[in-house]
Amino acid sequence: MLVLAGTAEATRLAAALHDAGHAVTSSLAGVTSAPSARPGRVRRGGFGGAAGLAAYLRAERIDAVIDATHPFAARMPFNVASACAEVHVRHCRLLRPQWAPGADDRWTSVRSLDAAPGALLDLDARRVFLAVGRQSVGPFLGLADRWFLVRSIEPLADPPDHVTSILDRGPFTPDGELKLLQMHQIDAVVAKNAGGVATAPKLGAARALGIPVVMIGRPAQPQGIVVVPDVAAALAWMAATAPIA
Ligand code: NAP
Repeated sequence: MLVLAGTAEATRLAAALHDAGHAVTSSLAGVTSAPSARPGRVRRGGFGGAAGLAAYLRAERIDAVIDATHPFAARMPFNVASACAEVHVRHCRLLRPQWAPGADDRWTSVRSLDAAPGALLDLDARRVFLAVGRQSVGPFLGLADRWFLVRSIEPLADPPDHVTSILDRGPFTPDGELKLLQMHQIDAVVAKNAGGVATAPKLGAARALGIPVVMIGRPAQPQGIVVVPDVAAALAWMAATAPIA
């Protein structure tokens, strides 16, 4: 079976499936140079669109696919849905529930990454914590009269003067996030609505300090597919849909 990886859940899922006796191959996009270790086979790099993935599924005789790519992976879920339908392989999408604002949160919700810089201007934010991943920093670089703190797993290539890059990998702690926002005198946070617990503490820290959050909405997902919220549900789906021996 094949797990499309790129999240902590994908790593845990590969381990759990391996322990349950499945021959698991994890597929990584190849964007992180030192990905988390996991049992089973690991392959890296794109398949060449839905057609390439379908050819791979046939060639490797894959009998089940779990798409555990990140909630902001915009293309892979559509490729998986299309390839699995073509090759008649069962598949499900592991997608964490979204975060929702509480009464004390100051969120400005935007539909896409490209709308976030405008929201920062509306808030007149000056010192911004950009918690969007290094691949998504581009749309903010034009705001040269603002200062940005970017935290990412891999370093930013040649950050301009108004961008400070720090390296870290979740899970993060409430106390650590509070200190980070205070130390850098952050007055706005930009986040993707990734859901989950590992990166949520920044939202609690912003709430505690009364700092606004520009929350970017998720990209569209394929319609009519099986969606599960966590690793346990993905394992239950695997067991429930196994062919009768
Ligand atoms: P994307 O738009 O869905 O994918 C772009 C292309 O990258 C896909 O068409 C595919 O190439 C290849 N690809 C993506 N995931 C792959 C996988 N698991 N195995 C093999 N090829 C894969 O996704 P993205 O936003 O570029 O993200 C790339 C990877 O980073 C994903 O695995 C995602 O889970 C992870 N990630 C993304 C974010 C984010 O904010 N976007 C955050 C954390 C982690 P082909 O069409 O050639 O097959």
